[in-house]
Amino acid sequence: MAKKIDGKAVAEEVHEQVKREVDRLERKGITPGLAVVIVGDDPASRTYVNNKKKACEKVGIYSEEYALPASTTQEELLALIAKLNQKSDIDGILVQSPLPKGLDEKAVVAAINPQKDVDAFHAENVGRIMIGEFHFLPCTPAGVIELLHHENIPINGKNCVVIGRSNIVGKPMAMLLLHENGTVTICHSKTQNLKEICSQADILVAAVGKAKFVTADMVKDGAVVIDVGMNRDENGKLCGDVDFDAVEPKVSYITPVPGGVGPMTIAMLLKNTITAAKQQAGIQE
Ligand code: NAP
Repeated sequence: MAKKIDGKAVAEEVHEQVKREVDRLERKGITPGLAVVIVGDDPASRTYVNNKKKACEKVGIYSEEYALPASTTQEELLALIAKLNQKSDIDGILVQSPLPKGLDEKAVVAAINPQKDVDAFHAENVGRIMIGEFHFLPCTPAGVIELLHHENIPINGKNCVVIGRSNIVGKPMAMLLLHENGTVTICHSKTQNLKEICSQADILVAAVGKAKFVTADMVKDGAVVIDVGMNRDENGKLCGDVDFDAVEPKVSYITPVPGGVGPMTIAMLLKNTITAAKQQAGIQE
């Protein structure tokens, strides 16, 4: 039977660390600040934004919300980003994705000051990750690495397979595993022999967005399985990309959904906001 990795508990530990950092910065007269921008009324985005604001409050990070109507123009949104780039009490800027149709998300990300880009989506930060000289890491892949470290799961020399090649999860995930000396394979919708490749993995990360996509015959005995997926099953219940009940008896570690990778994403956002605040205050440590 696998050890279920408790992402909620690990995220709690990260919150405590962040809170201690916030208190330390407060003593130096610095209050880390995060601006969260939401455009339109997508209910899932609203929930994510509320959770991010709540997490900031809990650890003492100052946060500002900018809720704009779906009718917002590209110019208006870019003007807000330009204002937030200049605002001295704001260290991190997060624009909740997806933006309503008609808004150019790439241009918005490109307009964020890379030093305030706590999602690490700006091309400068993506490039820094590529060469291993980064300030911020994208929150979800960073959360996965934190979970692996927390459980003392070795990555060095291991066969790592990432299913999914999105810019926000799959690609940076693969890069972080590579930085940790994993031997990494990235799979996607055009991959042939997916089952064979996955069943060689010591560490399998699923970031596909398809409910119960990873079945028991795709995993090696004793593998570590990390489920990034957030989907609804046929009954509308939240579930991951991994068929948990079938896979769990075969593997050594597994993350549940909910309560696995999800809580880590917000925890890493808080960490990035602290990093941004220190950077902007010229504190190097
Ligand atoms: P995405 O942009 O839709 O990417 C999905 C990836 O899966 C693509 O690279 C796609 O390949 C690949 N794929 C689709 N069908 C496949 C198949 N049959 N075989 C192999 N690969 C296949 O999704 P994403 O943004 O990376 O998110 C992935 C999942 O993670 C979603 O469920 C999302 O909700 C979840 N997520 C969770 C968190 C969290 O905090 N836990 C954060 C972000 C995302 P192609 O590139 O060839 O199309």
